[in-house]
Amino acid sequence: MDLKDLYRDVILDHNKRPRNFGVLAAPAIAAQGHNPLCGDQLTIYVDLDHGTIKEVRFEGSGCAISVASASMMTEAVKGLDAAAFAALHAQIHAVLTQHDAEVPATLGKLAALGGVREYPARVKCASLSWRTLEAAIAGAGTAVTTE
Ligand code: ZN
Repeated sequence: MDLKDLYRDVILDHNKRPRNFGVLAAPAIAAQGHNPLCGDQLTIYVDLDHGTIKEVRFEGSGCAISVASASMMTEAVKGLDAAAFAALHAQIHAVLTQHDAEVPATLGKLAALGGVREYPARVKCASLSWRTLEAAIAGAGTAVTTE
C-alpha cells in the first residue's frame, strides 16, 4: 500500500471513529491545544504513572487530520515514558515536515501521517495533538479537578 492510500484510509477511519475520545478524571493532567490557522481545538488528557503514559484521551473538534492524528497518537503512546514519547514525537515531526524523510517501518499506522507533507498547510493540524501532549507531560498542563 503506498503512502497516499494509507494516508487516505487511515485518516478517514480515525476521523470517523476517533479512538480514546473523551475525558479522563483526576488525577489526570489536561492540556489545551489550539491551531488558529485551521480552527482545530483539542484537549489532551494524560494519566502519568512515574513519568510513564498510563492512559491518554482527547476531546475537542477540528479538521479530519487533527482528529485522526490525535486518535492515532493516543493508540501509539500508551506505555511510553517521557524519553520514548520524545523520540517518537521527533520521528513524527521529521515525517511530517521533511519531504524526503524516510518513513520508519516501526511507525506502523502512524506512517500514514507522512501523507500530510504533501499538504504543508496541514502540518500544524497533524502536529497539534503531539505538541499538546508534550506540553502536558512537561508539566505545562493543568491538573484535572473532579467535580
Ligand atoms: Zn486542521
